[in-house]
Amino acid sequence: MNKNIKAKRLPKDPGPAAWNRILPDAREYPALTEDIQADWVVVGGGFAGIAAARRLSQLVGDESIVLVDACRLADGPAGRNSGFMIDLPHDLNSETYAGAHDQDLKQIRLNRAAIDFARSAAEEYGMDKTVFDPCGKVTGAASAKGEAHIDSYGKHLDALGEGYRLMSTSEMKEWTGTDFYTKGLFTPGAVMIQPAAFIRGAAEGLSSRVAIYENTPVTEMKLGDDHVLVTPKGSIRAKRVILAVNGHVQSFGFFSRQLLHVFTYASMTRALTPEEVKRLGGAADWGILPADPMGTTVRRSSDCMGSGNRIVVRNHANLSQSLEVGERDMRIAAKMQDRSFANRFPMLEGVEMEHRWGGRLCLSWNSMPAFGELDNRVWSACCQNGLGTVKGTLSGMMAAEQAVLGTSPMLKEFLDHQQPKKLPPEPFLSLGANMTMKWKEWQAGIEL
Ligand SMILES: Cc1cc2nc3c(=O)[nH]c(=O)nc-3n(C[C@H](O)[C@H](O)[C@H](O)COP(=O)(O)OP(=O)(O)OC[C@H]3O[C@@H](n4cnc5c(N)ncnc54)[C@H](O)[C@@H]3O)c2cc1C
Repeated sequence: MNKNIKAKRLPKDPGPAAWNRILPDAREYPALTEDIQADWVVVGGGFAGIAAARRLSQLVGDESIVLVDACRLADGPAGRNSGFMIDLPHDLNSETYAGAHDQDLKQIRLNRAAIDFARSAAEEYGMDKTVFDPCGKVTGAASAKGEAHIDSYGKHLDALGEGYRLMSTSEMKEWTGTDFYTKGLFTPGAVMIQPAAFIRGAAEGLSSRVAIYENTPVTEMKLGDDHVLVTPKGSIRAKRVILAVNGHVQSFGFFSRQLLHVFTYASMTRALTPEEVKRLGGAADWGILPADPMGTTVRRSSDCMGSGNRIVVRNHANLSQSLEVGERDMRIAAKMQDRSFANRFPMLEGVEMEHRWGGRLCLSWNSMPAFGELDNRVWSACCQNGLGTVKGTLSGMMAAEQAVLGTSPMLKEFLDHQQPKKLPPEPFLSLGANMTMKWKEWQAGIEL
């Protein structure tokens, strides 16, 4: 039976995707301006879309693949994130990022497979360490409460049989240049990426095999024997579609009342002068996740493709079920980030923020993905629960495998999950979630 689905809304991302902005001009892919035909269409060019297109290209011989994105590649959330590809459980809904034991072991196996898939792309497409750096990650504490979080995280890792190393106050200072952090916990399996450079590099690598269109929002899907995806100046007729649009899968009417749309925000300094770099000290590249999940993520990054030495701080989160936020939210976040920056880097007083932005996360109440065949030959690889660099990559790979192979050992393990749970009705949901997040931010204290 034919079905027409109009997109209720298109993505609107507040502020610039700074990781993309600080790179040299990107290769431009055209916008679609004609009616075309393809065997496969991937909608969305973030981590999930890129992984789906890459996995398809490995599986479908010479069948044609098209990838479209509403914006420029890496201008959406994929170019707005802090670039932590984390192999370990990272449940934002929990107090310590951890979940149940068996689920955590499974998640680690799947996350590592996704990171390996991204690694293979990085190697194949010649990305260097400024783009894809398998250097591990550090969780940092700045208070007794934060240290208690680290201790409990360490115990959880012991139970999982995962290795880690504790870092003392002096080690943290030597590494970061600031004496803000009192304790750290290093785990070796994470990869730090320059997220926009990764997306660009992967797209460039795929472009000989996949036809890529930017600034091409899908505004309507006509589902039938052949599906027709309508865009402002053209259309794509295809047998099979993979939706890799994260929270915007709901804009096409799927997973209604099952997805939470959370915005989080970041600020990036201008390039530091050589004198400021010296004054700061510490290593050239590092990243710290907060011991308290509602705390501040900080990243220092040195000179990827001439972009200069910069510091990025990320914090603040609010639920916005309309998938949009306004200037007021940006101002609140900016204020919080200026305070977090000043607390950590008094030696850099006067260094201004050059870019400020926000971006969308899609979560579900029970931290489950919005995955599977939604209609005849329409698959979803959405809802990455805040860890989209990894879970997006995973769901993109898995959607391609489900669509082409039907089953695989990894798919079997991945599919062993529940559906995203139904959410409470409005206005209770938004009021409750935003009050809880505010309360948790307040409780994070100096970790914020
Ligand atoms: C400030 C910040 C920090 C973060 N830090 C981290 C981190 O350190 N590690 C981590 O793993 N995650 C992090 N995240 C989350 C991460 O960015 C997302 O989870 C990830 O981008 C999701 O990947 P995705 O491919 O599923 O979706 P997206 O990256 O959102 O890609 C979906 C794409 O679909 C496109 N699209 C939507 N609707 C349409 C349509 N109708 N037609 C065509 N295209 C459409 C969008 O333009 C978008 O490019 C962070 C996010 C933010 C905002």
